[in-house]
Amino acid sequence: MKCEIIAIGSELLTPWRQDTNSLYLTERLNEIGVVVAFKTIVGDRRKDLAAAIRTALGRTDIVITMGGLGPTEDDLTREAWADVLGTKLKRDADIVGQLYARAAQRRWTLTENNLKQADMLEGAEVLENPHGTAPGQWLDTVFAGHRKLGMLLPGPPREIKPMFDQQCMPRLRAVLPVRHIATRTLKAAMIGESLCDSRIAPIYTQYPDVETTILAGAGDIQITLMCRHPRKEHAEARVHELASRIEDELDDFVYSSQGEGLEQIVLYYLEMRGATLSVAESCTGGMLAQRLTSVSGSSRSFLGGAVVYSNELKTEFAGVPEELIEMRGAVSREVAAALAEGIRRRCSSTYGVGITGIAGPTGGTEEKPVGLVYIALSDGVQTEVVEKNFAGDRERVRFYATQQALDMVRRRLM
Ligand code: AMP
Ligand code: MG
Repeated sequence: MKCEIIAIGSELLTPWRQDTNSLYLTERLNEIGVVVAFKTIVGDRRKDLAAAIRTALGRTDIVITMGGLGPTEDDLTREAWADVLGTKLKRDADIVGQLYARAAQRRWTLTENNLKQADMLEGAEVLENPHGTAPGQWLDTVFAGHRKLGMLLPGPPREIKPMFDQQCMPRLRAVLPVRHIATRTLKAAMIGESLCDSRIAPIYTQYPDVETTILAGAGDIQITLMCRHPRKEHAEARVHELASRIEDELDDFVYSSQGEGLEQIVLYYLEMRGATLSVAESCTGGMLAQRLTSVSGSSRSFLGGAVVYSNELKTEFAGVPEELIEMRGAVSREVAAALAEGIRRRCSSTYGVGITGIAGPTGGTEEKPVGLVYIALSDGVQTEVVEKNFAGDRERVRFYATQQALDMVRRRLM
């Protein structure tokens, strides 16, 4: 079954407001085997709305509109649906009664325009809205000789989500053929997207029944596998088989097979080994500590550390010899190593991490360009330093550096 979601509202065509409802609906629809084939955003103009609804009904089986159900002049969704279906709107006495009751309860005066929220499409079922005034509508109809399901849902996220979950999902489940969905998310660190894809595409293309999506971020790749099938065991077996083959191919690049973040995995390994970690961060300014402490329970293995942006603090807090900074420069292999070793000693942790680099966009030189970062990991016996030239803007370079650091700790603990 194919679906189109239409987000309605002129504000969604400005730079300031985004359609987020459709992300939520897509996730829920996928769970029951409905594919979102199109998403459309339309402003509050009756003709444009009608055109969008008509197009959607022509190319998909399920059409969901969100927004434009309110009482104001620019709320025209009901009218546009009626235009397309060639029907009239009928004012529903029960809904009118509910509107009056709700207004009385809140001591509002109900103005005439509020009543249009009670206008129903012919043959539509009311979808109650306990979180707002405008009810939704469920439509099971025929358009151009084909059966179509239609939903008119409110725009505010706090109204549409419960309405969809409690009233649309059960109706959809009752109408749609039973399909079980199995999913799995694999995550890999510090492998390029194209290298990753060139290695796994020959495998996942052999599984046309499993939908494979690859999301790439800085030093992070998320591979999501999804299979729908009438038999649950079959869907699960297919996803499991493909996941295993991808894991074998990517080997130790894969850090998680159940969707966990890299920081979660690192903390998990640290705890398993009874080890602790501290960090001395220059160019990442605490981002590594922030990522680690975002995980609940991190205090069991992450001790803390220091943001040592200035040379003086590198010396004072992490014990980096002044002469070393003078001789090699603050961004150097030697200073990164000294940061890791120094903070480890200072915090009495099992492992210490040091990061120093040039995040840009200013501060680069020919010898030390923007994106050059040294990441060091010390366990008191051995200190490993990695030199990287990360591409991207300041935020991306900084995130990359934290990702590299976490991956080094992970690999050391594996
Ligand atoms: P409406 O139902 O069109 O009156 O929308 C009411 C509120 O919900 C406005 O603040 C909209 O910005 C918000 N809204 C409408 N559609 C969406 C959407 N697709 N995603 C997120 N917010 C929305
Ligand atoms: Mg609106």
